[in-house]
Amino acid sequence: MAHQARKRFGQNFLHDPNVIQNIINLIHPRPDEHLVEIGPGQGAMTRQLVSSCKKFDAIELDRDLIPVLQTEFGHLPQFELHQGDALKFPFCDLANNDKLRVTGNLPYNISTPLLFHLMDHLHCIQDMHFMLQKEVVVRITAQPGDKLYGRLGIMLGYFCDSENLMTIGPGAFRPAPKVDSAIVRLTPWSSLPAEAENLADLNRVVTQAFSQRRKTLRNSMKNLLDIDEITQLGIDPSIRPEQLALQDFVNLANQLHNKQAK
Ligand code: SAM
Repeated sequence: MAHQARKRFGQNFLHDPNVIQNIINLIHPRPDEHLVEIGPGQGAMTRQLVSSCKKFDAIELDRDLIPVLQTEFGHLPQFELHQGDALKFPFCDLANNDKLRVTGNLPYNISTPLLFHLMDHLHCIQDMHFMLQKEVVVRITAQPGDKLYGRLGIMLGYFCDSENLMTIGPGAFRPAPKVDSAIVRLTPWSSLPAEAENLADLNRVVTQAFSQRRKTLRNSMKNLLDIDEITQLGIDPSIRPEQLALQDFVNLANQLHNKQAK
C-alpha cells in the first residue's frame, strides 16, 4: 500500500517538479561535496541530489519510509540512510575532514529546536538550505526595526548569515499545508560578527528583551541591568528592543556577565 502522509511527522511531500528543480539550483551541489538531507520523505529532493555529490547521508524518523528509500537509493555507494530523530542526531559524526552541506524540507513542528540543535554543530557545516514556514524564514532574516525581528533572528544571526531565497505556495506539496513556505540559506560566519562572553547570558538578555516587545529596554531589563549599566554602553534605555542590533545585545549580555563575575 502507498505510504500515507502523517501529520505527526510534519509530512507534506513536494511534488511540483519546477519547484524541486528551483530548490536544487539554489543548493547547487557539486561532485566533491558531502550532502546531508533531513527528512527525505518519499525522496522528492533526494532523487535530484543524490547523484550530484560524493557522499549523501539522509536522516528519516518515520520507520515506514525506510524500506521505500532503501529500495530506491540503497544500491548507490554514496547513499547512507539513518533512521532516527534529527533533533538528537550527532551531525559531526558524519563528517570525515569534509564540511557538510545540510538540507531539508523540514517538518514545521520541529523547525526551531532543530535549527538550535544545528547551531551546536556548525564547526562541521559548510552551509544549510531549509524549507520552512515562510513566517519563520521572515523571522530568521528580519533586521532591526522589522515587525518580526526578535529572538530567533538574533540568536541564529549570532552564528550565521541568512538569506531568504524563495517563497513556495501550498500547491507544491501533498497534502497542501495551510501556509506559504520559503527557502532560507544559512551560512556560518567565518568569524563571529560579535562575541558574547557567555551564550546563556545572550539568550537571557534577548529572551527577556522580547518577552514584552512593546516595553522599553529600561523596563524589560529591570532585573538584569540598571539604567546606568545600559547607558554606559552607549545604548538609550528608553528605546524598544526591536531597534537594537546584534552587537547591542552582545554588549548588554557582556555587561551582565561582567557584573555577575564581580
Ligand atoms: N523531503 C520530503 C519532501 O520534500 O517531499 C519530505 C518533507 S516532509 C515536510 C518532512 C520529512 O521529515 C518527513 O519525511 C518526516 O517523516 C521527516 N521527519 C519528521 N520529523 C523528523 C525528525 N525529528 N527527524 C528526522 N526526520 C523527521
